[in-house]
Amino acid sequence: MDRLDKFTDVVIDTNEIVDKDLDEKRKKQKRIGGIHASAIGYCMRKQWYEIKINRPQPNDTLRIFKVGNLLHDYVTELLKRHEDVEYVEDEKPIKILVEPEGFVIHGTYDDLVHLKDGTRILVDEKSCKNLFYIAEPKKEHVMQLMLYMRVLEVEHGQICYISKNKFQMKNFPVKFDEKLYKEVLARAKKLHLFLDENELPPAEAKQSKSTEWLCEYCLYADLCHEKGLEEK
Ligand code: SF4
Repeated sequence: MDRLDKFTDVVIDTNEIVDKDLDEKRKKQKRIGGIHASAIGYCMRKQWYEIKINRPQPNDTLRIFKVGNLLHDYVTELLKRHEDVEYVEDEKPIKILVEPEGFVIHGTYDDLVHLKDGTRILVDEKSCKNLFYIAEPKKEHVMQLMLYMRVLEVEHGQICYISKNKFQMKNFPVKFDEKLYKEVLARAKKLHLFLDENELPPAEAKQSKSTEWLCEYCLYADLCHEKGLEEK
């Protein structure tokens, strides 16, 4: 028998299935408005656009998020089964009330791990292409963790980078840092003011070599490029 006889032209279009699923999820998804803890360390102008305009995420981006979520779910599952672990609270929403301004920062923490000896560790999983360039946790990720650690009153934090190319991980312990926490709050307050006064913040990502790559993936690049680097 010819080798090719084994193949037919009947195939299920799995790409179409995934796209349909993501389209459905997008329709049902209710994004909580306002400032998000996961975005606070990134470009302030982009966050402003996300809150004011909120364009839907394209499927290419949702696919990347989905892969990250699948990896995260697997790691959470393994953490739950670990012999030293009592239980894990995962994917819990959180609200941080900022006073005296009275606005809320929304967030969702990944895994609050309760060990059998009573220790609690807040583990945040971040997927990345590969681990080669990751020698320390990224500041924007630590900033996000500061908010959660303060609200949950957790002493031990951990950022777990998961590579998508080899499914290897790098773990970094994170200690609560009052100075950095205040810096995060100050950024949130600044953004809140820009939103309140309907003023466009500076184009932060464009202004540094280390962050300009973000502009390549920014859904609001067209609007941003029409404006200058500073506000208005
Ligand atoms: S294009 Fe770049 S600088 Fe402008 S909003 Fe997007 S990320 Fe920020």
